Amino acid sequence: MTKRKHRERGTLFIVSAPSGAGKTTICKKIAVLLDNLKTSVSFTTRKARQGEVDGEDYIFITEKRFRIMIAKGEFVEWAEVHGNLYGTSRKRLEKIIASGYDVILDIDTQGARQIKETYGNGVYIFILPPSMSELRNRLERRMSNTREDRERRLKRAVEEIREYKIYDYVIVNDLLNSSLRKFESIVLAERQRSARRDAAWIEKNIIRR
Ligand code: ADP
Ligand code: 5GP
Repeated sequence: MTKRKHRERGTLFIVSAPSGAGKTTICKKIAVLLDNLKTSVSFTTRKARQGEVDGEDYIFITEKRFRIMIAKGEFVEWAEVHGNLYGTSRKRLEKIIASGYDVILDIDTQGARQIKETYGNGVYIFILPPSMSELRNRLERRMSNTREDRERRLKRAVEEIREYKIYDYVIVNDLLNSSLRKFESIVLAERQRSARRDAAWIEKNIIRR
């Protein structure tokens, strides 16, 4: 059986969390667990961490190139986070959505607000750490940041957490498997919403078959 798209355009799942809460871990596992779901690869001026692959985790570019992309309007959203620039390419995002895939956007709260203005009808999910002390532990365990960078991320975490109300769902990432089940439930439920059902798709794939 050939695989059919389940709709003409995919849905955006916007996922934010304070750094270290486990967002990357959850998003990567969910993209493997669920069909028809891809994670968007962002552009960044941050240096690659050990084990990160250019083109897979991020597209690592210079600040000069990033600024040119901003000037050309190539980002659907971009922001400065922890001293580095991060952005989502409009062209890459449109390509995934237009091919019928749902997309996970792992972006910060500033980016989420911009997407809300331009795309509006996405699904907004916020991931919380079980506590600030566990957030600190996780940042330390990741060992990929300097002490100074970790302190900066912890300080910003409080401001970010207070933004949770602009999101539709909040998941406290205590036990990873439980968080994955919650995330999966959100995606599956959102896909069944009648408002997200594509009339043209139903006409072509159900009524005319
Ligand atoms: P983020 O993308 O939010 O910055 P990561 O996914 O890189 O965070 O996770 C930060 C650290 O916490 C990693 O070492 C990861 O393995 C660990 N981690 C993620 N989720 C959990 C969890 N539910 N319980 C314990 N450790 C976790
Ligand atoms: P990290 O450096 O830990 O990979 O990411 C730091 C923060 O930048 C995270 O909150 C992450 O969600 C955010 N981020 C990653 N890519 C993008 C992006 O394209 N746009 C925005 N606005 N934030 C991003």
